[in-house]
Amino acid sequence: MPDPLSLRAFLFADPAAHSLSPRMHRAAFAYAGLSGSYEARRVPADELPDAVAGLRAAGVLGANLSLPHKEAALGLLDSLSDAARAIGAVNTVTHRDGSLRGENTDAPGLLAALRDAGLPDLPLGSDVVILGAGGAARAAAFVALRDLRGRAWIVNRTLERAQALAADFAGWGEVQAASAPDVPWSSAALVVNASSAGLNHPEGTPLDAAFLARVPVGALVYDMVYKPAETRLMREASALGLSAHNGLGMLAHQARLAFREWTGVDVPAGVFRDALADGLVS
Ligand code: NAP
Repeated sequence: MPDPLSLRAFLFADPAAHSLSPRMHRAAFAYAGLSGSYEARRVPADELPDAVAGLRAAGVLGANLSLPHKEAALGLLDSLSDAARAIGAVNTVTHRDGSLRGENTDAPGLLAALRDAGLPDLPLGSDVVILGAGGAARAAAFVALRDLRGRAWIVNRTLERAQALAADFAGWGEVQAASAPDVPWSSAALVVNASSAGLNHPEGTPLDAAFLARVPVGALVYDMVYKPAETRLMREASALGLSAHNGLGMLAHQARLAFREWTGVDVPAGVFRDALADGLVS
């Protein structure tokens, strides 16, 4: 481990100003008794190569990447985890002795959050419906197929993008793109909103409630959106007796896993969650 006095980590994103990540990682450094810094930097797309190259400096632990850099970083790193390669997106870069490794902690972060939310081990081949087809949906597809061994249905505003996702993941299990009316809702064990619908928009939703009404009670609805804390999708799911959760758990766990990659210290998820709660009220 580098000199503890010079531990540094970053977020590269554009925009970066309102990120909650600095709060979480600063709380984690404090909990772990490490003297370190975490700085959110606005990095425009054309400056990403230089910003990533700068991570090879002594004392730098690594960086988180957010929009619009998660895919663009793939070609700038020395190695990739299986998850990052399969998902095609990197949200965590770890620096060791001048070498940079790309990881995707969104996928295991989602899995950990689903477990916290009470998702049981699904019977093999359970149906998982994923709303969206961007980077977050690709992480959800990885979890659905690789970790949960489910059958994944991808529903997206732009069907072609859902079809492209399904084609990319075909080697991992049973996955298909579908329009909402064609999904077998009555056998869904898990519905994940991995679209931006509802983000900062209390009345926005990715799904007509009529489809949600076909989902069996006992299924879990996980909305990756966490602003507002209760989305319309969650409200409608709860009213139907479904178990509904926002994306704060995933956000906390992906940060926990990134921090562990960088420092080797497994700080409890509650430390990250408390920092998020403070950030959302202040
Ligand atoms: P992205 O790559 O930009 O993909 C956005 C997706 O949302 C696309 O599938 C897009 O559909 C869909 N979409 C956007 N607006 C929509 C609308 N009004 N109605 C229906 N669909 C709409 O973004 P991403 O990185 O995958 O992130 C997606 C969401 O997940 C964001 O809200 C992000 O904050 C959240 N997220 C949360 C966590 C967490 O830790 N909780 C982690 C990662 C991401 P088209 O293909 O038709 O454009």
